[in-house]
Amino acid sequence: MRKRVFSGARPTGRQHIGNYLGAIQNYVKLQDEYDCIYCVVDIHALTSMQDTSELQSNIHNIALDWIAAGMDPERSIIFVQSHVPEVMELHTFLSMVTPLSWLLRVPTFKEKVKLQPENVNYGLVGYPVLQTADIILYKAEVVPVGEDQLPHLELAREIVRRFNFQFGDTFPEPKAKLTSFPLILGLDGENKMGKSSNNTIELALSDKETTEKVMTAVTDPARQYRHDPGHPEICNIYRLHNYFNPAETDSIAEQCRTAKVGCVDCKKLLAERINAALAPFRERRAALAADPQQVKDVLADGARRARVIARETISEVRQRMGLI
Ligand code: SF4
Repeated sequence: MRKRVFSGARPTGRQHIGNYLGAIQNYVKLQDEYDCIYCVVDIHALTSMQDTSELQSNIHNIALDWIAAGMDPERSIIFVQSHVPEVMELHTFLSMVTPLSWLLRVPTFKEKVKLQPENVNYGLVGYPVLQTADIILYKAEVVPVGEDQLPHLELAREIVRRFNFQFGDTFPEPKAKLTSFPLILGLDGENKMGKSSNNTIELALSDKETTEKVMTAVTDPARQYRHDPGHPEICNIYRLHNYFNPAETDSIAEQCRTAKVGCVDCKKLLAERINAALAPFRERRAALAADPQQVKDVLADGARRARVIARETISEVRQRMGLI
């Protein structure tokens, strides 16, 4: 029997090449080996989103990007977190076995307190409990994580152990599938590519928009004039060539160091390669976008299938906890 994988992403809008290289390509690959459950975690988004007017379009866009990129609704369950309300019930049950001290020491909670001091809501503290509920509601055994997320998964495992100790073996302890997510820097060349840093190249841009964005990217700051030799090892454009144009990286490095190529031409070449690599994705995405009902149907079917598992788990949990 194949093991079950769970992973989720917050609906922050259209996905960018950082998401693509870091998570989406991995999600697609995992489908060959595991039964995968992929969730758009809209309830998590509410912990830091006070204006929800774009939430529905963000959910639609992330689903479009995922499916167009090869996350296959026939093989995987793709759904929206809030469409399976049992997760909130399990979150409440798990909150009864999770000591507050465990949650208050979570580094990301402390960071969020600093980031949004005007909105330190109860949901922020309980975020890891809801994350645990996300995973174990489906009895997922495997969670793909980067090294930085290991402490979160360890907390989930502690919550599971505590529940199982108190109420009997109910949940498998989810294990990390350590994945080396490459750190993709944004167009500013400094910060991780992300919507909040406004430094992204979105997957769904047109070829022209992609080229325009790439042309604004920061390169080697020491290379001020065309005849200055460059330092590809510190240039973000060069790093992106490694992903989208691996066959030419040696030659680009040599031409950069000897000033045989200028940054403008180097960026144009990168934009061409990105556009070529994303062309099949963009074609599939455009076809899907033309029929919004198709994505709605995928998410509804995903929620229906997820709910079958969720209801079974909740019924077992209620019995274990003496609620039935
Ligand atoms: S030539 Fe290319 S690799 Fe070299 S600094 Fe310019 S953009 Fe970067």
